[in-house]
Amino acid sequence: MHELAVTEAILEVVLRAAEQESARRVVTINLTIGELSDLKEEWIQRYFDHLARGTTAENARIAVATSVPTFLCDACGEKFSRSLRGVERVECPACGRSSCTLTGGMEYRVENVEIEE
Ligand SMILES: [Zn+2]
Repeated sequence: MHELAVTEAILEVVLRAAEQESARRVVTINLTIGELSDLKEEWIQRYFDHLARGTTAENARIAVATSVPTFLCDACGEKFSRSLRGVERVECPACGRSSCTLTGGMEYRVENVEIEE
């Protein structure tokens, strides 16, 4: 039920943005989900449809983009991002060492909300 709590948080952000813009209706929500997140897009949309009923965000579509994980190299401090799909070892593009710390890739973020005024 992880998605339910996340979807409630997303709806809150969306409704606040809609209110600020005096939106009549929210059309699309652009959401970015980290590649390492276990959030399922179809569940978010399903919960959203349920939670948003009766609000300005009713029937809004959630467009999901995936963001790649970000790393910090322990050896040289280089910050970089790289997809982990099909990758066994992450190496720093600057110094080639493989001791890197994961700094992002599990988060989600509402990028923007497309509305009808
Ligand atoms: Zn490095």
